[in-house]
Amino acid sequence: MAERIDADVLVIGAGPTGLTAANLVADQGLRVALIEKHWGSGDEPRAISATDETLRVMNQIGIMSRLAPEMLMDTGARYYGRGGRILADVRPGNPRVGQPGKSQFDQPVMEGLLFEAASERPGIDLHFNTEATSITQNADGVTVTAVRRGARSRGVSGVLAGDVGNDHTPALDAADTELVVNAAWVIGCDGGRSFTRRELGIGLSGSTQVEKWIVIDLLDVPGEPEPFASFHCNGTRPTVVVPGVRGRRRYEFMLFEGEDEQEMVSPPSIAKLVAPYQDITTVTVRRAAVYTAHQRVAERYRVGRVLLAGDAAHMMPPFAGQGLNAGIRDAAGAAWRVAAHIRGEGTDALIDDYALERRPHAVEMVKLSKRIGSVVMNTNPMITRLRDALVVATRAVPPLNQWLTRMKFLKQPHYVDGTVVPPSGRISAAAASLVGRALPQPKVGLEGGHVPLDELLDVGWTAIEVHDGGTLVVEGGEGWRQEAMDCAGVFAAACGLVLLVRPDRYVAATAEIGLRADVVAALAGKVPGLRTMPSVP
Ligand SMILES: Cc1cc2nc3c(=O)[nH]c(=O)nc-3n(C[C@H](O)[C@H](O)[C@H](O)COP(=O)(O)OP(=O)(O)OC[C@H]3O[C@@H](n4cnc5c(N)ncnc54)[C@H](O)[C@@H]3O)c2cc1C
Repeated sequence: MAERIDADVLVIGAGPTGLTAANLVADQGLRVALIEKHWGSGDEPRAISATDETLRVMNQIGIMSRLAPEMLMDTGARYYGRGGRILADVRPGNPRVGQPGKSQFDQPVMEGLLFEAASERPGIDLHFNTEATSITQNADGVTVTAVRRGARSRGVSGVLAGDVGNDHTPALDAADTELVVNAAWVIGCDGGRSFTRRELGIGLSGSTQVEKWIVIDLLDVPGEPEPFASFHCNGTRPTVVVPGVRGRRRYEFMLFEGEDEQEMVSPPSIAKLVAPYQDITTVTVRRAAVYTAHQRVAERYRVGRVLLAGDAAHMMPPFAGQGLNAGIRDAAGAAWRVAAHIRGEGTDALIDDYALERRPHAVEMVKLSKRIGSVVMNTNPMITRLRDALVVATRAVPPLNQWLTRMKFLKQPHYVDGTVVPPSGRISAAAASLVGRALPQPKVGLEGGHVPLDELLDVGWTAIEVHDGGTLVVEGGEGWRQEAMDCAGVFAAACGLVLLVRPDRYVAATAEIGLRADVVAALAGKVPGLRTMPSVP
């Protein structure tokens, strides 16, 4: 007989996107079921670059203090051209959200910590070795069937296997069990080959990158890591080298047509590829694999009560380091919306805004990754000579050079359509530009010290009034009110205004302090629950 599970939200897939979504939904006070077909969180070293927004979410989930010592924080990238000539040193300019713009991490470590956080949250019901097999839905909810292989498993942290190569596959000698999960909403975070996407009949637009790459992860690399990733656009064998802490280092080499994949990941080939950069005899090869990158976006992110997030919704080559980071943003954007809908505080239009906000940014990130890839992967002598000359020439044009070296080409989300209220014409351009963007996170002054602003934010909506002299009045649900000083003047342009901040830390609206009720009313079509916030008149 099938086992029945009831949940507010079912998350399919326990990769970084699914684990993040599960943690965030549970923090909204809802019951989450999470099913994952494998035995534990992922142990494949894939993503390696995290953005400031991803780290902000990790901090919100409560794992940042354990993640940070495993990371090389605040890095940049150095691009080399033909003959090893340095073309550009790039580093994200002015990170705004309280974390460095770019840092190196290890995906199994992050997933392991997200898994532990999920295991510790009583609101999350974990089912590993459990594969979703069908989805049906009506206007009130979704039913997903799944098959559990072997005995019930709450999973293990894949990081235990990652670094030391242990096999944690549990005994699968018990019979398979059919599960029937009923949930109000489903978030499909089941990766690039998404079962959810297929089951919903959602197509993918885009293509597969022709060039394949070999990725080699090393352990026990001696010495201090460089504070930047190196892109060797040498016109011969494009190569990327990414440093890490605790002796980790990643090498990625482009493969050429006709090269045999098996042969290229053999120990002698690895030694030959790595030889120009380091002595392979003193290190441990953690993993070597060939991968094919895709540049594709799902045509829709929603069908009825099922949403797609992460690689299930978009796949991109790793050159801009954005795939996982986009998935974390998806998880943050989806979690509070489904929670609001379940509590009757958000409408269907609020859910539609998820795709309206997230899909265009994913499309942009896919295009950017493709563009960077075409610069890095080119091996045509004439084109690479011209490319090198053009990049060096930008040094004579400071705005262009800054666009390149401060990574201004990497556009942060700015939601114009979605759960935002266009600021009135009376608001200055500087203050208006806060709307639709991630809330800046300076350290603010309290009696007795300074704290990051996020520590004062509610898990729900927050209103921040900016008063003369930089006094911030921070108000959340249930009468929460705290005054703090904006010592760095980050919100100076918004003096006299109130900012309405969404649970995903994006600014939805701003208005003169006395007109707060007007912007709350403007949001009421999508978030009627906002009217019940005690601090709202
Ligand atoms: C070499 C490489 C380098 C990369 N570098 C970066 C980088 O620097 N920065 C960056 O942001 N991104 C990077 N990425 C991309 C990043 O790794 C992915 O975007 C990220 O892993 C996607 O996470 P996800 O949770 O959406 O999907 P996944 O990690 O694929 O997780 C999906 C999960 O769903 C499970 N699942 C699938 N089907 C079912 C089912 N039917 N039932 C139950 N469970 C199911 C799977 O077992 C899996 O655990 C890189 C990728 C590669 C390959």
